[in-house]
Amino acid sequence: MPALGAALALAVSVLLTGPASAEEFRPNRVIVDYIEPRSESLQGVYERMKKSRVLEEFAQFLAPVRLPTTLRIWGAECYAYADWLAYYSPEEHAIHFCYEYVDRLEKTGAAGMTEEGFEPAQVLMGAMVGMLLHETGHALIDLLKVPVFGRDEDAADQIAEFIALQFDEDLAETITKGSSWFWLTDARTMLYLNDYADVHSTSMERFVTYLCLAYGDDPDRFKDLAEQFLKARAPHCKDEYRQVEKAFAKTILPYVDPSVLEEVRARRWFAPSMYEAAPPP
Ligand SMILES: [Zn+2]
Repeated sequence: MPALGAALALAVSVLLTGPASAEEFRPNRVIVDYIEPRSESLQGVYERMKKSRVLEEFAQFLAPVRLPTTLRIWGAECYAYADWLAYYSPEEHAIHFCYEYVDRLEKTGAAGMTEEGFEPAQVLMGAMVGMLLHETGHALIDLLKVPVFGRDEDAADQIAEFIALQFDEDLAETITKGSSWFWLTDARTMLYLNDYADVHSTSMERFVTYLCLAYGDDPDRFKDLAEQFLKARAPHCKDEYRQVEKAFAKTILPYVDPSVLEEVRARRWFAPSMYEAAPPP
């Protein structure tokens, strides 16, 4: 059994060298910076992002996680990277949160109430925080060395939505609706076979993942969207939520500082009114 032998050898080497000592993992290790964009067209978003202080609030929101190093969150112009959304760089230990993404949210999300009942300010804030949480999922997998079966991208979505559901109901609704709305909107643009070869699940699958976890956690609150979209998935959502809960408890929760978490849970976060989008042209 060479595979088992290799696994045992790895386990022994981990035991001999030992995991990094607990003292190195500390809370309050997230810092924020805004990099001025070169493109004139993104200047407004850059100013509005800085004024809103959404990234600073997000850094405080992540304060309870004990990290082995500083995690940086940069508001930045991303040019052609990451399809102009956001990405986590393991070399820099940094989340690049693209102004292009916020620009896209402003142009598509602020257009008014949708027929599915998505409200503009809520989807704007929720889609921003949902994307930050997805990148945080990548950062936690990297920095805490969380083992993942399946694709990192699916795990990052599950971590993001699970965290969103652990605070007050308004926050759960804002992030779930924002993330859901964004992926549902994006799903409607997927036209080519190559779109299905991506490292991510398809946008429609991502939409359903966010919604299913929320519905599994709180069926009453999310039943309207669930009835429209979950169909055959709905009966499985409670189990899906429990599966993610179990994985989170075993891999990430040991790195959450209970007293800092208590402070974070006592506060309200990410009011949709916090970010003021440009008025429609
Ligand atoms: Zn990702």
